[in-house]
Amino acid sequence: MMPVIGSTGLAVGDIGPAPPLQQATGNIAIGASFGAPKARPQTPPRIAVPAWVVAIDAGHGGQDPGAISLSGMYEKRITLATARALREELKALGRYRVLLTRDRDVFIRLRDRIAIARAAGADLFISLHADKVENPAVRGLSVYTLSEGASDAEAAALADAENKADLLGVFA
Ligand SMILES: [Zn+2]
Repeated sequence: MMPVIGSTGLAVGDIGPAPPLQQATGNIAIGASFGAPKARPQTPPRIAVPAWVVAIDAGHGGQDPGAISLSGMYEKRITLATARALREELKALGRYRVLLTRDRDVFIRLRDRIAIARAAGADLFISLHADKVENPAVRGLSVYTLSEGASDAEAAALADAENKADLLGVFA
């Protein structure tokens, strides 16, 4: 009788007994037998990482056009087009779940925009605007983060104007 190595009939740990190894006889190597499972390369277990949820808020909309350019372009149209483009860029990365607070020309109050993002469990809220300023020499873009107070008079004026736009929905 051939001795069997490693087969005790007792469970080992939580995974049960290892398949029996057989002693070599002739040209048969240890562990080689018909029907034996092939050894698989060890790969680390995949750990599911939850995707970040990004809420993109296209500023203004509906009866609130936002700023109007000298050529007559409405801020609400620029923000919506930018929000849609940003959504596609982020989705293409495959690492984010993306939602828009609005995907059409509709007025949404500020508090409702926040509620939409919170209901979706957003990790990041990005509100897009296409500001205008009185100084024609100013170019570029601006980034504002949540703060209790404005950093300067221009930021205060902008925040005041944006918050007043929210009142348009009260009388709509
Ligand atoms: Zn705006």
